[in-house]
Amino acid sequence: MAAMRLLRFVAAWLWLAAPLAADVSQCACDPANPETMKARNCSLCVEAEKQPPDAEFFLLKDINPRKPNRWLALPRMHRPGAHELREYPKPVRDGLWRFAVQAAREKFGGEWGIAYNGSQVRTQCHLHLHIGRFVRAAETKRFLFVRRVEDIPVPEEGGLWVHPVEGGYHVHLGEQITETALVR
Ligand SMILES: [Zn+2]
Ligand SMILES: [Zn+2]
Ligand SMILES: [Zn+2]
Repeated sequence: MAAMRLLRFVAAWLWLAAPLAADVSQCACDPANPETMKARNCSLCVEAEKQPPDAEFFLLKDINPRKPNRWLALPRMHRPGAHELREYPKPVRDGLWRFAVQAAREKFGGEWGIAYNGSQVRTQCHLHLHIGRFVRAAETKRFLFVRRVEDIPVPEEGGLWVHPVEGGYHVHLGEQITETALVR
C-alpha cells in the first residue's frame, strides 16, 4: 500500500511539474490538424505555417521584450515532438545554418553568435536558432573548430552555440542553456 501511495504521489508531482518543465518532446502538434497547434508551446509551428509554401527558411524577431536584440532563424519544415535538429535531413540543416549565418552577419557583422538550446529548456517545440550579438566573456576553451557550417555537428544531447573565428567557426557543445552566449 505504501508503495502504491508513493507511486500516486510521484505521478501527481510529475503531472504538476510538467507545465513548468515545458517538455516539448511530448508535443502532439500536427500541421495537418490546426486544432493541435493551439497549445502555447506550438506558436512557432503556427508562424511556420503562415510562411509562403516556397519559403524554406524564415527569420522572426524575438517577441520577448527582455530580448530586444534577438532574432530567430527557422525552417518551414516540421518534425514530430521537440523538432530535434537531428530529426531534420542534412540538406535542411545545412540550409538552415547557411541562412542563419547570413542573417547574423547582416545584423551583427563579425560579432554574431547563434545558439540552439537543449530540449530540456526549450519552451517552443518548432526548431529555432537564436541569433544575437556574441558575448565575448562567454568564450571557453571547450570548443570544436570547423571550417564550414556544413561541418557543424548535430548534438545527441543538449544544445550548441556557434560563433565565427579566424578561418571558421567555434562550436560549443554539451550545454542545455546556450542562448546566454548572446546579448539579450
Ligand atoms: Zn508543438
Ligand atoms: Zn512545427
Ligand atoms: Zn568559442
